Amino acid sequence: HVTVIGSINVDLFAQVPHHPRPGETILGDSGQRAPGGKGANQALAARGQGAEVALVGAVGSDSDAAIATERLRTAGVDLEELRVTTEAPTGLAAVTVSADGENTIVVLPGANASVTPEDVRSAVVRAAEQRIVLLQGELPRETTEAAVRRAGSDGHRVVLNLAPWGEIAPDVLRTVDPLVLNEHEAAAVATALALEIPEEPAELATALASSGIRSVVLTLGPRGAVVADESGARAVPAPSVSAVDTTGAGDAFIGGLVARLAAGDDLLTATSHAVRVGAYSVRHPGAQPSYPTTEDELP
Ligand code: ADP
Repeated sequence: HVTVIGSINVDLFAQVPHHPRPGETILGDSGQRAPGGKGANQALAARGQGAEVALVGAVGSDSDAAIATERLRTAGVDLEELRVTTEAPTGLAAVTVSADGENTIVVLPGANASVTPEDVRSAVVRAAEQRIVLLQGELPRETTEAAVRRAGSDGHRVVLNLAPWGEIAPDVLRTVDPLVLNEHEAAAVATALALEIPEEPAELATALASSGIRSVVLTLGPRGAVVADESGARAVPAPSVSAVDTTGAGDAFIGGLVARLAAGDDLLTATSHAVRVGAYSVRHPGAQPSYPTTEDELP
């Protein structure tokens, strides 16, 4: 079983000829709303790879909540612990994408900001059997920290994707196994820990793992990933594919990773599966619609 404690958003995409400058109003070419949020994306990707998944978080009591949750519901993600609040709207990410593929993103956390340490503690306590508990960086920091501590002390395996990066307590970093980061986040964590930042990703992953973090998975886009623990680092190359849209590739990767960890794979084997799930997702447009299920053939 996998319990994801995380964010649920609607992504509002606007295709624009160029990004508006401060004070400028422009007409977009086209746009649409799509389900998103790292918690929701990773929960869906893990479900697609065969895991039993529950998602803990909050949405508003508005029409965006249906857009944000429909795919999760259809896929069979357990939404029993998803709170509907009247205090805040469903989280919203406004994304502008220009013709040259650059994007800008503004996230309005809304209901995600209302998820408290109490909400997540009770969800973790209620999990009777051993679980993978997966968190990201999009909930309030004290909620994430409380959830990691509680899940760790209850004997669950905690996977943390510290995205976006933000200050986090050192004991929380020592509890997670693995910490999953892209290169930007890894550099930020290394800086916060006052480590030197080596050029080579394998050395960076090793430096992080040697600082007391049990294991580290570093994602490297088309180059795949590196797995490191105190015994050293191993590179896991990604299959070569022609990328159409890399939105949500990191989330697809993490869903694939935790699904295989829940099935009993070791971290290196699970990562070899995760790079294939990530590579599958970049061949298709969008985030959630690009995620494979166990029916799909992976690259
Ligand atoms: P993020 O989107 O979080 O920055 P990455 O860009 O590192 O994460 O991508 C996550 C994973 O997705 C990679 O480890 C890889 O498995 C897959 N991936 C991303 N981009 C490509 C690509 N161009 N070709 C093949 N796989 C890719």
